[in-house]
Amino acid sequence: MGDLRFDGRVVVVTGAGAGLGRAYALLFGSRGAKVVVNDLGGGRHGDGKSSSAADAVVEEIKRNGGTAVADYNSVVDGEKVIKTALDNFGRVDVLINNAGILRDKSFARISDQDWDLVHAVHLKGSFKTTQAAFPIFKKQGYGRIIMTSSNSGLYGNFGQANYSAAKMGLVGLASTIAIEGAKNNIHCNVIVPTAASRLTEDILPPDLYAELKPELIAPVVAYLCHESCTENGSIIESAAGWAGKCQIIRSNGSLLRTKITDGVSVENVRDKWQKVTSMSNAEHLDSIQEATGALMTSLDSLRSGE
Ligand code: NAD
Repeated sequence: MGDLRFDGRVVVVTGAGAGLGRAYALLFGSRGAKVVVNDLGGGRHGDGKSSSAADAVVEEIKRNGGTAVADYNSVVDGEKVIKTALDNFGRVDVLINNAGILRDKSFARISDQDWDLVHAVHLKGSFKTTQAAFPIFKKQGYGRIIMTSSNSGLYGNFGQANYSAAKMGLVGLASTIAIEGAKNNIHCNVIVPTAASRLTEDILPPDLYAELKPELIAPVVAYLCHESCTENGSIIESAAGWAGKCQIIRSNGSLLRTKITDGVSVENVRDKWQKVTSMSNAEHLDSIQEATGALMTSLDSLRSGE
């Protein structure tokens, strides 16, 4: 099997002036893609702006023999980011939604601004860029989208309620885009990275930090975006040269009443609680139809009195 290349493909990476985005942009650039290096160049809390971050990565890609252009728009103006791809390269094939900021506070101290800014960059920004690219992907019958979530979203993390909510929102966004895009060969997957960057330099222990190179995650993201990769609607966690798939699982559950004519009392719930919450036979459901199907089966068994 040959090398996986991106010749002729145009790849937009948001927040590509540093950290993970920079590693993605450099890898795509080294594999033949034309890269739009988007970065607002602000501080880690969403303050300020500068063109130097994106420019430095464009220079690095060009020095290595690749093709790239800088874009300094905020992802909140997603249509402008995609326009940069169209104006410079005439097409767009891959969109990596990676730009991010943090405004960590314990839940009780989160201001409206802390909430709104984090949601604007992560969730609204990913919505805006993706909505601008989607009709182009549809028309050409090809597109690859990455959303960037976080273990803080999947599991929660002290001091990151605003960020956790936005990051879990991206999982929902990706799940629906994956369904809507599938028939047009548009795949949307979620990456859950853990990497050394300015967002994590004061969070991760120093010995772990040294091992968490963004370059070790970039190949996972690149593979997900290759035309040969069939993965769609998945959550892929990656760090330190490791990758795995995450899924939401559901317990087998329990009927809370014995006859279709019965109601459900609070005591019925208490008495069945152990079975409701037992994860011993937990399973992953692939779709909302599967969830509805399972509900119908439960109702059928109630009706037949089994
Ligand atoms: P980073 O701060 O090094 O990079 C983020 C980049 O996004 C910065 O260069 C910043 O200027 C840019 N940016 C911020 N707001 C922007 C906006 N409105 N428009 C365009 N660009 C903007 O951080 P990183 O660790 O490389 O994070 C990349 C992504 O990965 C983020 O979405 C982050 O939440 C996510 N993530 C990172 C980790 C980790 O361990 N580093 C863990 C989970 C999730």
